[in-house]
Amino acid sequence: MRKKLLGLVALLSLVVGSAAPAGAQAYNAKPKLAVILVIDQFRGDYLDRYRDSFKTANGFNLFLKKGAYFNACYYDYANTKTAPGHATIGTGSYTDGHGIGSNEWWDLSRNTDRVISSVEDERYRLVGTFDDLPVPPSPAIPPAAARIGASPLNLQATTIGDEVRLATGGEAKLYGISLKDRASILPAGQTANGAFWIDVATGRWVTSTYYMAQLPEWATKFNKGPRPAQAVKEAGLDDTTQFYAMVGRTPAANSYELDFARALIDNEKLGQGSVTDVLTVSLSANDILGHQLGPDSVQEKEMVLALDRDIDSFFSYLDQKIGLANVMVAFTADHGIAPIPTESAKLGVASARLDLEAFSASINAALNARFSPGQQKKYLMPTQELPYIALDPRAFGSVTEKDAEQAVVDAIPAAVRGLGVPALPPNNLTIPEATRKYEENRVDADPGVAFVRSRVDLAEGKVPATEFGRLIAHSYTAHGGWYAMVVPTAYQMELLSGIQTTHFSPWSYDRHVPLGFFGAEFVPGYYREQVAPVDIAATFASVLGVNAPSASVGHVLTMALKPMR
Ligand SMILES: [Zn+2]
Repeated sequence: MRKKLLGLVALLSLVVGSAAPAGAQAYNAKPKLAVILVIDQFRGDYLDRYRDSFKTANGFNLFLKKGAYFNACYYDYANTKTAPGHATIGTGSYTDGHGIGSNEWWDLSRNTDRVISSVEDERYRLVGTFDDLPVPPSPAIPPAAARIGASPLNLQATTIGDEVRLATGGEAKLYGISLKDRASILPAGQTANGAFWIDVATGRWVTSTYYMAQLPEWATKFNKGPRPAQAVKEAGLDDTTQFYAMVGRTPAANSYELDFARALIDNEKLGQGSVTDVLTVSLSANDILGHQLGPDSVQEKEMVLALDRDIDSFFSYLDQKIGLANVMVAFTADHGIAPIPTESAKLGVASARLDLEAFSASINAALNARFSPGQQKKYLMPTQELPYIALDPRAFGSVTEKDAEQAVVDAIPAAVRGLGVPALPPNNLTIPEATRKYEENRVDADPGVAFVRSRVDLAEGKVPATEFGRLIAHSYTAHGGWYAMVVPTAYQMELLSGIQTTHFSPWSYDRHVPLGFFGAEFVPGYYREQVAPVDIAATFASVLGVNAPSASVGHVLTMALKPMR
């Protein structure tokens, strides 16, 4: 025993006494590169739906046939939006762990005019937009000094990439890529060497002074080369000043992103060192398209098949570059999506849209009646992002947060009842003759609310002791000021202009995502156990032999791992 202890002390002093590079040498660099591939808004049933159509070797079949694929992966929280989804994937924790509740929220200490984004950070500046051009391409674009930068400032937990950086004394490289800033920054983490996303007008890749003062030479070359114009052409356009919206909703955006990923891997020499490098890639096009045309459209199927080809091409490139035997991959999505309400309604599902403006007006009227009779004060903030309803503390005077939020909670049932049934826009779904007569007898669904709770109550953990209550508890965040959490009943959503459907809720269609793994440590197979995206970070940490991220709540998916040799 004594000898053992002495041995341990000697070992410890060796480790403590060595500088960072020596510590890094002790790290067992297997694999050379860990990739987390996220498809934005990719529901968990898509691969089962279309699997017979996948003809490639290294596309989705990399997970379905050569890897470990889980078809029952569900987020265990109730705010299924892009920013929290990506933060969850990276950190292996939910909103109550990483702090990111929405894409945007009100923070009156930082801005009283508008919501702030989950990643904007006025301490930094954007890098690489138009600094090299004598005249910006649009007069609407502010001068470089005024373009607010971005960072993971709101992320309250480390990511798996951060933990690999910590374990290697910073020797491992860590990068994030996406069309969207939040989807690039949040899954990569606080210690990333770089995160890149696009300028929405031109499609040129940008970053923030949080990471670097200038774009790397290779990225500038990519921006100035033929690739942005080629993507515009592949999207079927001659020219555009709305790259994000117009190219972003086509498969051309995915190959554009993956080409940038190749340039990064080549030039930053990922997977070439003696430690494991980490890359997160989030492909955004599916989300932009899915909001417009829904999960059941022909275009969605075409996008899935195009993704299969683009992913195949990317992993075949990695095979040549690093060897797939040296690569570990996790594949998932940040959230699912609801069917278009008109389509589910036609089949008899109680689908409806909530007019949030009418809803807010009704709440304001109720609060005026209670706190300021005869006045028309605005007690709610002018814009809202479900599932949170933001209050304006300035309007409440001496009323405490607890009382203010409770007043909103009390006003909600009547406000929802008062909404009535908004007309659903027409759609061209054909109903089989045999079922048509029943549907004609069904009445349209009333908007309904399944759950409401104040921020103060959520902070005190006052949620039902049920499975549903656990989802709600995982959605608590201190960001967003005074708010109430509001969950409409299933298949109901906010009425939004320009899009037909969305995701934000605790219902299964929003929480269901694919989960696939590929790598030497995984036992290939099709797994039906219910798992969660938080399990990615825990499983990667176990395989890599590093600490799990600081707020990690995931489980190691031992059923898909080979026994330790
Ligand atoms: Zn979305």
